Amino acid sequence: MSPTIVAVEPTAPADAAASARALRRVADPEHGTGPQRWDDVDVHDYKVAGSAPFRGVTRQVLFERDELACQVRYFEVEPGGHSTLERHAHVHAVVVLHGLGRCLVGTSVLDLGPRDLVEVPPMTWHQFRAADDAPLGFLCIVNVERDRPQLPTGADLEALCADPTVASFVRVAD
Ligand code: MN
Repeated sequence: MSPTIVAVEPTAPADAAASARALRRVADPEHGTGPQRWDDVDVHDYKVAGSAPFRGVTRQVLFERDELACQVRYFEVEPGGHSTLERHAHVHAVVVLHGLGRCLVGTSVLDLGPRDLVEVPPMTWHQFRAADDAPLGFLCIVNVERDRPQLPTGADLEALCADPTVASFVRVAD
């Protein structure tokens, strides 16, 4: 699909504050494989504890503004950790930055390494896991307007786990 060109009202030129915010540096450029931090980017819990099963995941929002209509988040999964097994109507565009791990997309379990790209289509079960001995850090781009993730029901899990590869991969507890 090509970008749609639309007529827009010119906006005010960037002020000094916007110019100063144009660059936010990575906090420790030499720290290639550890937790990634950036100036003026807060580190959040991945989700509210207890709201969904996950282990050892942080969330940082790198880019968000109305004109973008998307958010670019950075998730870091600690060694042995995992994101929530979930699905939803919105899609994920994922770029692995560093570390090692695997992910489930639909019924496929995929090995992940730096600079790999993962696309999660609508209503597709997905989960990200770091390796036992390495973190997994990745960018995830989403639409600003998005639906809440669904967790699997017992019947969903039973269907997913009919595949032994999927059954041995998924984590549904913290
Ligand atoms: Mn998701």
